[in-house]
Amino acid sequence: MPLGIFASRCAGRIDSAVDLDEALRGVSEQAAVVRVFEDLFAPGVAARIITDIENEGLDAVALVGPSADHWTRSVSAHHLRDTIEAAGVNHNRIATANLLEQVALVHPDDRQAATAKAASLINVAAIRATRAGTVEASGSTPLRTVLVLGVTSEALVASQRLLQLGFEVTLADRGDGSVTATNRRDLRATGAWVLDHPSATFIDRAEMLDGDGWLGDFRVKLATPDGVVEKHVGGILLARPDQTEWVSELRAHFRVDVDDDGRARSLDPVRHPAETIDPGIMVVPLRGQDAIERERVAAADAAAMAILLRLSSDEVTHSHDVSSIDETLCGGCASCVRTCAFGACYIDAETGLSHVEERRCRACGKCVVSCPVGARDLLSAPHDVMVASVHELAAAEVDGPKVIGFLCGGCGYPAADAAAEDIVERGSGYPASFLPLRIPCGGRLDAIYVLEAFRAGFDGVSVYRCREGHCHNLIGNLDMDRRINLLRTVLRARGIDDARLRIVDISSAEGDVFLKSLDEMFELVGGHVPSSATQGATVVPLTSPEPASSAAAAGGDAS
Ligand code: SF4
Ligand code: SF4
Repeated sequence: MPLGIFASRCAGRIDSAVDLDEALRGVSEQAAVVRVFEDLFAPGVAARIITDIENEGLDAVALVGPSADHWTRSVSAHHLRDTIEAAGVNHNRIATANLLEQVALVHPDDRQAATAKAASLINVAAIRATRAGTVEASGSTPLRTVLVLGVTSEALVASQRLLQLGFEVTLADRGDGSVTATNRRDLRATGAWVLDHPSATFIDRAEMLDGDGWLGDFRVKLATPDGVVEKHVGGILLARPDQTEWVSELRAHFRVDVDDDGRARSLDPVRHPAETIDPGIMVVPLRGQDAIERERVAAADAAAMAILLRLSSDEVTHSHDVSSIDETLCGGCASCVRTCAFGACYIDAETGLSHVEERRCRACGKCVVSCPVGARDLLSAPHDVMVASVHELAAAEVDGPKVIGFLCGGCGYPAADAAAEDIVERGSGYPASFLPLRIPCGGRLDAIYVLEAFRAGFDGVSVYRCREGHCHNLIGNLDMDRRINLLRTVLRARGIDDARLRIVDISSAEGDVFLKSLDEMFELVGGHVPSSATQGATVVPLTSPEPASSAAAAGGDAS
């Protein structure tokens, strides 16, 4: 399986702490192409990568440099990934190694250790790129129809924009939104315009009953006093991210991130204020109660523009990253059906075997962990890849006690990125013998990975999961609790101090909590003096167990 490694120096920021050429030396023996650029997003880089893919027949790619989150949140990074996929590399065979936020910026003073850690993270990305299965993708023309939840001033303005551009809009309100629209003193004319528009529909006193699908192709059922109304829409706009009833109902069917007050959170309040982690679900950016009209119109415009950008393309591609089933192993026990919070699993009446409804599956991995016979696996985080990654990290040539960090992609991973900024403030990093491994959800953490980590020689295991009520997959964090508490008993039976396994509740921006948890863990396993600058953070202890070769710039030579 020809592998290409494309690394970025991130404009010198990685070189300042890591010998990148040395870090790439090991993986270059198995890669068909290793190429290093000053900046992966510089002009000409994408064309160079595509030429390599075509000339070398690459079908696995590791992108080395910025955070994995950068590849989903940045428009330019997203575009580069899309370009690589369009050149023929499967979505699931593009892996990333975060050498910026989780190596160079956090280990600025230990070049040798940072380089060794970087080499391990690159090897893990190579494992992921070459051993993960492929996922199917389907393309479709996005529906130019939008469901707006909540009839607010912003909803009316955004709807007016979309109607002017030829979209169909359904406005659903928990109260009498159509009455409110025409009674609003400030936006009465806009309300009347939208209400009278032939492509606008108002649904009053509505609640969301059900939903499935993805960007460009959502199906939503609304309960109304006149019965159930079904809508087939390309996108969903949450006009009031602080209206927690809508947020809760959306979260029962789709992945929506929330803040401490239960409000829907945007992808990035500065750069992508109207987008959420689900590319088909938008929010009107929140402002204060006293926002003036100009600010409210600007927020509505941002939301309308975000929808327009997503739904105006001729085709959107959806990668079917789901839980897979080995029918030769499935015994039809329905454990997966009981576990899946999104109702995506069912037992087929004829065969008696489990099936996955792709339109509902959010690839959280909880069913994989719950299956008693190992009939399930997650295409984006397969079991074999997880185990091999644990062993690869255990082999990292770094001094001192080693700690592996299982980082939930929704909270722990971005918190580890955020810690890079806190380190600048507090003036000290954390040991490079902390080796991070991203998992899609706390619910994907199999006790086997923890046991494998201790068996492979790790001195400590830290698991970072979302706070209660914040899990993107609703209850992945709580499911993990049950398994891990049982695991404590097993650890003690094997003579392993179960304090060396720590669960940390964290949210995505809490770099300080992340750093404090590492201070405490390394103090426990030895060899690290905590910084006094991290007072006040909270690490949640586990509860008592229940019984039971490269070129220097774009266009350089391939090795
Ligand atoms: S948990 Fe496993 S064995 Fe049981 S029905 Fe689901 S896939 Fe089949
Ligand atoms: S991966 Fe998650 S959403 Fe998909 S079927 Fe399994 S438990 Fe349900």
